[in-house]
Amino acid sequence: MVSRESASRRWREVSVRSMLRLPKFQYLHPASPKEAVQMMADAGPDAMFVAGGTDLYPNMKRRQQVPKVVIGLAQLKKLGTMKGKPADGMVLGAGLTLTDVTQDRRIRHSYPAVAKAAELISTPLLRNMGSIGGNLLLDTRCNYYDQNYEWRKAIHFCMKKDGEICWVAPSSPRCWAVQSSDCAPVMVAIGARVKLVSSSGERVIGAAELYHDDGIQHLNKRPDELLTEILLPPANGFRATYWKLRRRGSFDFPVLGVATCVRLAGDGTVEDAKIILGGVGSSPLEAILAQRAIIGKKLTSETIKESSAAAYPAAKPLDNTDLAMTWRKDLAR
Ligand SMILES: Cc1cc2nc3c(=O)[nH]c(=O)nc-3n(C[C@H](O)[C@H](O)[C@H](O)COP(=O)(O)OP(=O)(O)OC[C@H]3O[C@@H](n4cnc5c(N)ncnc54)[C@H](O)[C@@H]3O)c2cc1C
Ligand code: SF4
Repeated sequence: MVSRESASRRWREVSVRSMLRLPKFQYLHPASPKEAVQMMADAGPDAMFVAGGTDLYPNMKRRQQVPKVVIGLAQLKKLGTMKGKPADGMVLGAGLTLTDVTQDRRIRHSYPAVAKAAELISTPLLRNMGSIGGNLLLDTRCNYYDQNYEWRKAIHFCMKKDGEICWVAPSSPRCWAVQSSDCAPVMVAIGARVKLVSSSGERVIGAAELYHDDGIQHLNKRPDELLTEILLPPANGFRATYWKLRRRGSFDFPVLGVATCVRLAGDGTVEDAKIILGGVGSSPLEAILAQRAIIGKKLTSETIKESSAAAYPAAKPLDNTDLAMTWRKDLAR
């Protein structure tokens, strides 16, 4: 008969063996953003930046991303600052934690959509670790990809990593993994910009230009580029909000996120509108028909209803995240 002690020792051994472990890698800790981009230039394509690590480290444990060199950003004070006034636009350091963003009085008051989106991300512990920059650069997600190595190997992998086929749409030449960042649709809707720095210079692009509708090449950012700043537009003159659909209110990735931003004339007519859907494509998607339905009109129950109905065709969920895709598409309304 097996004794209680040996049974419990055996159970501990099995648990430890089945734990997902990080692969071996070299960790570098630069003293400044400049040093970080130089380290990246020296290390080449086998290196990746890490901020809070709440996305990258789980991905490394599942062998979805396997950098040999990891360049840590969390200690870089310069990336953790917030500058400017809402009236002129604010500059968020990419290394600010989600908690820093949600707790800042200026952000809560003048950019409530940004505060709300960040506040809806995962759990307090993960928001204390996760950065706003890492959130905008989050890897795309898919039920066939967010699995451990053995699970993916058992289905012969997929084209996003190590394989050739897409299990969601087997005849498709592209990957449909889903853009699942809560802050990305908001940054696109309000017209934020991002600063990217590398050893060969720097550039500022609109948040909308940062994303590309492809589950593999989902960012218009070179791997060697460091995201240093997120530039929020002057807060005057627009109103924005964010709504998120997920299975559990306590924490879960969005299966649909809706960011809206309107600029109103003095008489309440909508001069400009941006309605951006997240979690239903490989990039934040612009619901152009929904925008058109309110531009030049006043916001009434009828015009809002018309606009909501027009958001339906823009949502293109597939069966590769939580909950039924037809229900999620319906909910875009
Ligand atoms: C259980 C769980 C639930 C979650 N729920 C949500 C959710 O509901 N919504 C959501 O949006 N996210 C969610 N996340 C994902 C994640 O926690 C957040 O998106 C977080 O903000 C990521 O930031 P990070 O600093 O940890 O990113 P990291 O893991 O450090 O990095 C993410 C990616 O960005 C790159 N990177 C990071 N910073 C920079 C930079 N400054 N310049 C260049 N590249 C950079 C990294 O190389 C990596 O590719 C969840 C994660 C977990 C584990
Ligand atoms: S959408 Fe297809 S290719 Fe992309 S991660 Fe999922 S199964 Fe793989």
